[in-house]
Amino acid sequence: MGKVAVTAAVVFAAAISTATAVAVRHHMKNSAKWGKALEILEELEENCATSTWKLKQIADAMTVEMHAGLASEGGSKLKMLITYVDNLPTGEEKGVFYALDLGGTNFRVMRVHFGEAEEQIVNEEVHTSIPLHLMVGTSDALFDFIASTLAKFVAEEGEDVHLPAGRQRELGFTFSFPVKQLSIASGTLIKWTKGFSIEDAIGQDIVGELTKALERIGLDMRVTALVNDTVGTLARAHYDNPDVVAAVILGTGTNAAYVERANAIPKWQDLLPNSGEMVINMEWGNFRSSHLPLTEYDESLNAESLNPGEQIFEKMISGMYLGEIVRIILLRMAEEAAFFGDTVPPKLRTPFILRSPDMSAMHHDDSSDLKVVDSKLRDVLEIPNSSLKIRKVMVKLCDIVASRGARLSAAGTVGILKKLGRDKSRKEGEKQTSVIAIDGALFEHYTKFRQCFEGTLEELLGDVYETISVVQSHDGSGIGAALLAASYSQYIGLEES
Ligand code: ADP
Ligand code: MG
Repeated sequence: MGKVAVTAAVVFAAAISTATAVAVRHHMKNSAKWGKALEILEELEENCATSTWKLKQIADAMTVEMHAGLASEGGSKLKMLITYVDNLPTGEEKGVFYALDLGGTNFRVMRVHFGEAEEQIVNEEVHTSIPLHLMVGTSDALFDFIASTLAKFVAEEGEDVHLPAGRQRELGFTFSFPVKQLSIASGTLIKWTKGFSIEDAIGQDIVGELTKALERIGLDMRVTALVNDTVGTLARAHYDNPDVVAAVILGTGTNAAYVERANAIPKWQDLLPNSGEMVINMEWGNFRSSHLPLTEYDESLNAESLNPGEQIFEKMISGMYLGEIVRIILLRMAEEAAFFGDTVPPKLRTPFILRSPDMSAMHHDDSSDLKVVDSKLRDVLEIPNSSLKIRKVMVKLCDIVASRGARLSAAGTVGILKKLGRDKSRKEGEKQTSVIAIDGALFEHYTKFRQCFEGTLEELLGDVYETISVVQSHDGSGIGAALLAASYSQYIGLEES
């Protein structure tokens, strides 16, 4: 070999080894980053773990808090609000009633006709969302918007809708925020949740605010029942089935209501001496326990929320927050493990950009190359060309966060069954069925969430699970409010045949 050739060979070899070294170093750097990302994921999984044992502790804590909240006002994080609903629908309700359902994400108006035997007709309904500026504006602005939507709805009514002569239209108002109820048709707002913050409405009688707005717009309608979505859902389900004992909402927020023996409520005799049972609105979104598997991500979500320190259970479970938890985890993975490359995708810094329907779509992606995950990453977070490895991690993240939420809500439900003594095996020959009604788009549309919820109930209840029936009460919160307007109608007793 000549000198030139030798030199060339040496240079060539050196070049190869340099390239190899760069590649190796690049690979090592990448795998170190990947290792860091997996470390974050593993740590997350550990911290979000909800063993059967832990869930049983949480169910017990829920029962204890229920007792404490009933025993005295302010005795628990659970408000255990008396609803004045001591008379649940029986299936005999008749007539045309209106409902307004203000829940968080959606605002709906409906007119329901309750007819003969099961013939229940929702004549019409309008859906709209509350404009963002009204969620943080003034009480008058919010209620004027609601009243004008209602007035427009009534103005567009067809010829076929007619109430008996001389009768006022009656409305059931589902207002799904914590309210201190003063009667079936009045109550004052305790606080806002789910992204609403209208200072001058706090402490106001919600029915009074709506009634004033109806007067301002000139609509003659009586607000007959003020309820929240849990109570509406419970009422709606009870219309079909007297074994309904509780209702759970899994939508924008989460909450539960159940039927309590009136004599379990202190001072009840002074309030409504004739009722044997009473629906209690737990406001379980505010539940808190040292057993809850809280992570640093929950802490930062909480710290940045409109209501820090409040609604901790809700912030781990409900539709408004699940996607946001995933976003916060992803941001940390992007910052500390360069999960999406050397720069952090700017969209990842936008709060609430990733919503739970996006999360659910990714979680249910069963294509071999996870193309739904890819398209969500592109469309929502503007991250092009994600690797399959990254997409798999995304699915795993959704699974960890959604499963934790579903399992916690199942544990809360078991807490209610315990309070009612319905978590035990039946006595020989005794028939006892406990029906739980559930409403909310999270439960309705996030299949894996729902399956996990039901599987966890079975895991926690064992044989008793056979006596439990979980029913989806679609639109229960609105129709139930119309039903309660029927149950508590000013014309009751004057009923026509
Ligand atoms: P509200 O609780 O305001 O009455 P919904 O019951 O419609 O409203 O629930 C809305 C919530 O459900 C939203 O927070 C949304 O994120 C969630 N949601 C809607 N569709 C889906 C879906 N396909 N997968 C997961 N979550 C969903
Ligand atoms: Mg709702």
